Amino acid sequence: MTLRVMEKGDLASFVERLIASEPGAVGPVRKDGKHVFARLASVEDLDLAYTTTLLPPKKYLFPPQETLLRFRLGAPPVVEPVLEAPPLVVIGVHPCDLRGIWATDRAFGDDHVDTNYRARREAITLIGADCLPDEHCFCTSVGSHLPEPASFDLFVTDIGDAVTVEIGSERGRALLERYARSREATAADLAGLQKRRHAKEAAVKARLNVDVQMLPLLLESVSTSPLWEQLGAKCLSCGNCNLVCPTCYCFDVGDLMQLNLEEGERIRRWDGCTLVDFATVAGGHNFRREAKSRVRHRYYRKFQYLMTRYGRSFCTGCGRCSRSCLAHINPPETINALLAEAEREEA
Ligand code: SF4
Ligand code: SF4
Repeated sequence: MTLRVMEKGDLASFVERLIASEPGAVGPVRKDGKHVFARLASVEDLDLAYTTTLLPPKKYLFPPQETLLRFRLGAPPVVEPVLEAPPLVVIGVHPCDLRGIWATDRAFGDDHVDTNYRARREAITLIGADCLPDEHCFCTSVGSHLPEPASFDLFVTDIGDAVTVEIGSERGRALLERYARSREATAADLAGLQKRRHAKEAAVKARLNVDVQMLPLLLESVSTSPLWEQLGAKCLSCGNCNLVCPTCYCFDVGDLMQLNLEEGERIRRWDGCTLVDFATVAGGHNFRREAKSRVRHRYYRKFQYLMTRYGRSFCTGCGRCSRSCLAHINPPETINALLAEAEREEA
């Protein structure tokens, strides 16, 4: 890993040149008091001093709705695959959202390679940026507070008067060489980086009271906990927690016919396991009819089934579901309550 340093003014020039020269650049933009990832028209649009965005950058890899193919009925029918993957630079991605992209890379690239996801993934350049947490972040509990070396092209950390830039790929190195003025890092810069990271770790207040690696085991022992009943009674089945989550990747596929009933499109849209009809199958049977089983399923996806398979939590600790849940259901309280219950039973 190579570490370079840029003066703050040089970072602004770098971003300005990226926006002017690359086919597309997006980043965190302030909108109606919140932050969203959106197209950057100039460096003034970019606001790197943000805690979180409403939706994660996942939306550029796996859009909320996309056309998979167009078809025309006839003899023979005509089918044209649709694959849109324009080059894009995504600026300001936090470590937890880089971890989210690691998770969707697994989901769309391991057993069944998803061609559309893969093409967009290859077309996207990721420039990460470090952050300071709010009261909902619990990234340190799931090990997603630091940028992983293979997860970004460049990663920027504010160390006061300057920023450090970690180079994560040859693509990132080429961008830096082409558009930025930077220098080698000194011992003082490294000390500044360490200080900033320690300050971030100290600022994370929400936490899981259990080693994340123990969670599959814990969840195995609490599948009949009364807590699921209580959470099910509170849950509105609104699906917000699924929509905002960087690692939720469920979708539905349907055909949209034109009025001429001859042509149409196959569409996929985000779906969510907390929605009432998510588990309804042919014949009308819903195998997760009760809210408690849907809420429980969501937790088992994040901390049990996929963790057992990949050895890492499929929750990044980003806190988006905690912020958006009108019923105040959130992972730290849920996991800590389950842990307390397991400990009481053990005593
Ligand atoms: S956001 Fe909260 S209320 Fe809505 S489905 Fe998720 S857990 Fe239930
Ligand atoms: S489950 Fe909640 S905290 Fe965890 S990654 Fe998803 S939105 Fe973030």
